[in-house]
Amino acid sequence: MPILSFASAASTLPTDVLATLGADIAEWQGSGLSALELPFTGEAFAGIAADAERDLRLLIDLPDDYSVLFLQGGASAQFAFLPMNLLGDATHCDYVESGHWSRRAIASAVPYGEVRVVAFGDERALPDPACWKRSDDAAYCHFTTNETANGLQFHTFPKATQVPLVADMTADFLTRPVPVGRFGLIYASAQKNLCAAGLTIVIVREDLLGRARRGTPAPFNYGRQADAKSRVNTPPTFSVLVAGRMLSWLRARGG
Ligand SMILES: *Cc1c(COP(=O)(O)O)cnc(C)c1O
Repeated sequence: MPILSFASAASTLPTDVLATLGADIAEWQGSGLSALELPFTGEAFAGIAADAERDLRLLIDLPDDYSVLFLQGGASAQFAFLPMNLLGDATHCDYVESGHWSRRAIASAVPYGEVRVVAFGDERALPDPACWKRSDDAAYCHFTTNETANGLQFHTFPKATQVPLVADMTADFLTRPVPVGRFGLIYASAQKNLCAAGLTIVIVREDLLGRARRGTPAPFNYGRQADAKSRVNTPPTFSVLVAGRMLSWLRARGG
């Protein structure tokens, strides 16, 4: 019997994908190694990561000037990596405060620069994107597309301005069409809607790379990770494979 899980932890996976992964674990494509044993520096894993990225790009119709990063640390780590990587020379960043997760994102950004809250929501309603008081000189404008803990989802996306839009899509990644070209950066912990825990997907427009503050550790530096194809250090190799199997499963079903 199918199980519908409404738990906030890991997503359920289709049984045919689990069966394929079982075979991958037993042996990765005649290599003599389990998928769990593949070195991240080898050709086999490079192919797994490239296939996953290709399928993601096709699924969301990602423009060519965006990089896809496979990182660790969850969305919670991105809350701090965002200002570390994106503030650059700007004095402030804009945030929409709309519930539990956006409040956490704001709290993590505060040590790195001035945070201006440009719209408030509460437990009953989200602030209409047309009414956000966005500035035109912020480093970026951050919002949470779905406030999981409060059960509230934005049904319209803000317009693009010269200030890059940054979105935490952890709770609704790949669940609906998104105008990706309006965003400077989209990030999502992959365990909520796509695959096993351990992988965080960051989709970033390339002009935003290379502004990390001094001292940003290389594994957390978007530009360094983009240059290294997310292999500055060991990525969560098996979670990337699970993501790849799921992305191809989604494509086979029309997205
Ligand atoms: C679950 C969730 C997070 C936290 O994800 P972690 O991987 O546990 O850091 C962040 N934002 C949203 C919207 C979430 O639903």
